[in-house]
Parts: sequence; C-alpha cells; structure tokens
Amino acid sequence: MGAIRTTCAYCGVGCGIAAEVSAGVSGNGDRAVSITGDRAHPANHGRLCSKGTHLGETVGLEGRLLSPMIGDCQASWNEALDLVAGRMRDCIAEHGPDSVALYLSGQLLTEDYYAVNKLAKGFVGTGNVDTNSRLCMASAVAAYNRAFGEDVVPCSYEDLDAADLVLLVGSNTAWCHPVVWQRLEKTRERRGTKIVVIDPRRTETAEQADLHVPVAPDGDIALFNALLAEMKRRGLVDGEYLAAHVEEDEGFWQNLRSCRAKSRHVGAEPGVSTSLDTNGGVSEETFTQLCDLVAAHPRTITLFSQGANQSVCGTDKGNAITNFHLATGRINRIGAGPFSITGQPNAMGGREVGGLANMLACHLGFSEGERAEVAAFWDAPNICAGAGLKAVDMFRAVHDGRIKFLWIMATNPAVSLPDSQFVREALSRCPTVVVSDIIADTDTGRFAHVRLPAQGWGEKDGTVTNSERRISRQRALFPPPDEARADWKIVADVAARMGWGGSFAWNSAADVFREYARMTALAKVRGKVLDLTAYATIDDAEYAALEPFQWGGERPLSQGYPTASGKARLVSVLPPAPATSAEFPLRLNTGRYRDQWHTMTRTGLSPTLSQHRPEPLLEVHPADAEALGLADGGLGRVETESGAAVYRVLVSPGQRRGEICVPMHWGDAMAGAGRSNRLPSQAVDPVSGQPGYKNSAARVVPV
Ligand code: SF4
Repeated sequence: MGAIRTTCAYCGVGCGIAAEVSAGVSGNGDRAVSITGDRAHPANHGRLCSKGTHLGETVGLEGRLLSPMIGDCQASWNEALDLVAGRMRDCIAEHGPDSVALYLSGQLLTEDYYAVNKLAKGFVGTGNVDTNSRLCMASAVAAYNRAFGEDVVPCSYEDLDAADLVLLVGSNTAWCHPVVWQRLEKTRERRGTKIVVIDPRRTETAEQADLHVPVAPDGDIALFNALLAEMKRRGLVDGEYLAAHVEEDEGFWQNLRSCRAKSRHVGAEPGVSTSLDTNGGVSEETFTQLCDLVAAHPRTITLFSQGANQSVCGTDKGNAITNFHLATGRINRIGAGPFSITGQPNAMGGREVGGLANMLACHLGFSEGERAEVAAFWDAPNICAGAGLKAVDMFRAVHDGRIKFLWIMATNPAVSLPDSQFVREALSRCPTVVVSDIIADTDTGRFAHVRLPAQGWGEKDGTVTNSERRISRQRALFPPPDEARADWKIVADVAARMGWGGSFAWNSAADVFREYARMTALAKVRGKVLDLTAYATIDDAEYAALEPFQWGGERPLSQGYPTASGKARLVSVLPPAPATSAEFPLRLNTGRYRDQWHTMTRTGLSPTLSQHRPEPLLEVHPADAEALGLADGGLGRVETESGAAVYRVLVSPGQRRGEICVPMHWGDAMAGAGRSNRLPSQAVDPVSGQPGYKNSAARVVPV
C-alpha cells in the first residue's frame, strides 16, 4: 500500500502528510503508521514539526470511546440516538428552539460543521451554534469584517517567502506554528528578511528575532497607532492607495495624533514605560528601531495570533494592524499584508460554513433577505431568527437555565473555557448534556448524560481549511473502530429521528461537500469572495483525489473589497485604560507548550511529546520571584478573582516585571494541578466575544 496523502490533526498551518500504514488496516488491532511531510503540499513542502511527526503515536485505541454510552451504561446507537432526538424534541416543544445549543470545535471537518449548522439554524431554529474557535481567532474575524466587509485573510504563505520584514504579533511562532517558523528562517537565509517579535514575553521566537518589542499586555493598539502616526510623520502613508481603495472613520488621523501625544510614564525598568498611552509601553529607543525597520522595508507582513486575539480588545488590535497596512499600502501586494494565523486545523472551515453564532451560513448574515435565501436553499422549516449566543454567553445561559439541551462535539470546555469552575457548574445543572468525542474520559465527558463515539484523525474523511484559505483533504488511514461514526453522520441520524431525514440524506462526506460548495453561490451573488461553486458538481472520484486549493486565490482582495463602496475601511481604535488592582497586582498571561496541543487528550498519549515539558510551569521574572519569596523549582499558587491553581516555579528573565505566564493544557483528567483556565475571568471582547486569556489580574503566593 502506498502513502496516503492527508493533513495534520493539529494547527492552522495545515501541513500535508504522507502516511504509510503498516498495521491496523483491517480491523481494531494494533495500528502502525509512519508519518512524513507531503512534499507536494503547498503549506509545508514536506516539512513537519514534532507534533505532526509523532502523530503515529496517538492513533492507538487506548482510552477511546468505542460505543454509545447512556450514563455509565453501554447502549446501542438506536437507543442513544432515540434518546438524543427525543430530548431535543421535548426541549424545543416545552422551552422553544433557543433552549437548545451546540458547541463545536475547530477539530471538526468542514462537512461535520456544515451538517450541524444546517440542523441547528435551519431545522431546530436556534442560532446557538458556537465553537471553540471563538477562543482562538474570533477577534481577527471581526476585525477583517470591519475593515474588508468579509472574513477574508488577504495573504498567502507564499507572501512569507517574499517579505522583507515580518512583524510577529502575539505569536510564539517557533513553538505554536513551527512550520511557518521554519519557512521564515529559510526566507531570512535567502533574502535577509528581518523578523520582529512584538510580545510582552521574551519567548523562544523573540530570542531568535532581529528585534524584540516587549509591548505591555494589551499595548498593541497604542503601539500600532503610534507606528502609523510615525509613518505619516515620515511621509510614508500611501495617499494614492488610500484615495483609490480606502474609507476613513471621521477623525481617524486626529485620533492617532492624540494617542502619540499622551504623556509617558517611566516604569520599573529604565526606559520602559508601563503606560499603554504611548507606544504600548515600549521604550522610545526600541520604538524608533521598530519604526526604522518598518520605514526601510515596504514589503511587510504582520502575522498575528492568539496573543493579539485573546484579549478584551482583540478586535481593535486587529483593526490597528489592518489600519497600518491599509494606510501604508502594504496589502494586496506580493510580500505584504495583515495575516491572521489560526490555531486550529479547521477554524477556517468552520468560519466558512457559518459555525459561529454571529453568522448564518457561508459568510452570510441574518438580514431578512439572507435568511430567506438560506431557508429556500435548505428547504428549511425553522430558519433561526437571528444571531445566537457566543461561547462564554452560551455557558452563562446553560448556568442560569435558559439553555436546557447542550450538545458538545470534539472539544473539552470544562478545561478550555475561561472561569472553568463556572463552566463545570453550568454543565452539572444542564438537564441534557450530549458529548460526541473520540476519548472516553474527558473532564467534559464526565458531565454528559449521553456520549457518542466519533471518528478520530486517521479514520475521518473530509476537508479542512488552513490559515491561508487552502482547502485540503483529510483522508482515512484506518477503518473506524467498533462503533465510531463520522460526526456529520451522527448529526444526520439525529435529524432523521426528528423527522427531517430527507434534507440530511447524504451517503458520504463528498455529498455534504458538494452541497456546501453549491451553497456558496448565495455568497457569490452577494459579492462575497467565498466561492466554491466550481466544486459543486465534482464526482466522488474527483473528491477522493482533490488536490489542495485556495478559495479566493493568492491575493483575494486585489480586485476590490466586498463592501458596499468597494473600499476598505480605516477604523478608529483607542487603547484600553491600563488595568490595575491592589489585591491582584500581577498580570497573568497563558500560552501553549511546543509539544502539547489543547487539553492534551491526543498529545498526552505520545511519550515522546510528553518529554519536552512534562508538567505545567509558572514563569516569573527573577526580581518578582525574589520579592514574592518564590524559589526556582519550588511551588507557587496563582490566585485570581475566578480561582486558583498550583504550579512549579520557573524563574525566567524572559518575563516582564509584574507579569507571569502559565500553560493552558492541563485539566483534571490529565494531572489535577495547574488547571490554568480556572484563572481567567469571563470578560470578553465586546465585538468578537473572544475571552481575554492573556491579561488577567492575579497574585502569587509560595506553597
Ligand atoms: Fe501539524 Fe501545525 Fe506542526 Fe504543521 S506546524 S506539522 S500543521 S502541528
């Protein structure tokens, strides 16, 4: 058997994989697969990182959920599906459609997402469909929508190969998107590209950069406003591009000038400002170095990630970045643009089909016309009335009893959502919790009334979209074990029991994909960039052999912007007020480890990956450690208004004074200590609904 070309299960880089299966193809026995990078895949050209390389260590069946469970009892699929459909039907009849909610995941394939979104928004009639992608890139989506009129990433990976300057904002790229980092290193070698890291922490990526800009937590808006004001002062704004392609908020330039003019406050370290007012807390010397680099290198890419997005002002940060690119004409040109890089393998596919509470389907909204068109396309009896509840609000509604039926697919919110103790309380109160997962024992699964066994990576068949809008096939390597089913099929089976089987009568993932591709015609006629209509009639063999392709092409906005005027928009954004608290004087940041993924339900299975950082560490600046009485290797207890967790201390000069950092991965099912998402509050960005994981008020006491 030759290599099967598929894609990695982890991050939004979306690397192609060549998988050689040597055991396990004929049943549930031992499985063995050797993984190499797919040289023909444009996202990685054969490169892989440690997580992708060791995927073969995670395909065993140990710990898998292999049959439906009602409570602790094994059940047949018929019993479980009848129960799920019956409870959902009763809930709708008694409490209305908005008492039903579905919480999804960027691990789902596009076909799965499409099926759930259709069931919920067209047939149940609820807008309460949201996803863990809300925690990852919702602010970038909102910023793109405000600036461009549609959620369109305007760059491609090839632009990284052609850039002269790359600004990495809130991204520990070397750890979190390692293949993009490898690509940048090559570009640097080849053409001397300069790399700047804008991050409060001196991360492994910052260590290797040409310049580290240690911005204050949430100082990015002030920094990018100041940068643009300085570019204007130096005569580097592109007046021609602005006149032809961009509209401005009233008072836009005045707003920038006032940001730059505010007074500076000198902080604990010489030359470093703690105020967000000027330069985002960056010293004048570093700010000037940044401006000089930007002025000298018009081919600039700004790659931004969770450090920018996971903030109560994440949307404004995204717009501060897009403002800079629009005003300097560094967009829609080779090697230039604001490039949001997603965390998950299929965050983008979920966005396309509408798997977010604030969009209906296929980049369409909730206007009367759009709802009517979608209802007609689906032949839907109960098109939802409007936007639903975003992730954090959804779990608040579960907690206070407005939502009484919750179906969670392929995600572990009892660990991953902020204020996770509140989330656990919410789950324990909910009359019906259904969990579709591949793992039998997860922190969330412990609250489920019904658990449904889903197919995992290496068993599923469908498509994913990576950060550069490239759709690739994920292909099955092994037959599904025992009773595991595809998520889209589970949804269709429930729909059939609700009396809607005719609209969900798909025989394969290819059937679902074709329907989704056909539906993008609705977006196309409204002038959107999203358009897959060329794939609406491919046959099964063509779907099976589908090569990776980008919707919108390499530079999708170069023919104009999908707004009413055809122009993009400069959006005035102001820095937030600096947050201070006498009781909780430290700023808490959370992040990822190089070799772990999400809540470790998959990477925790790999002995190799567990060697990198086997336990959760609390990183503290040496001066803070001394002042707090914390010893390197000792234990520290982090406390916030929401909760507390204990960690081993790592004294690290890479932290700014007054700021600490912990990893996000550990939950009770994995370790019990270091459960970091107990700590952040439920505060979210008012536009995107994305939680502010990166900047919580905290204190630390030695244990
Ligand atoms: Fe997988 Fe991301 Fe690593 Fe590529 S960079 S191999 S997609 S985890």
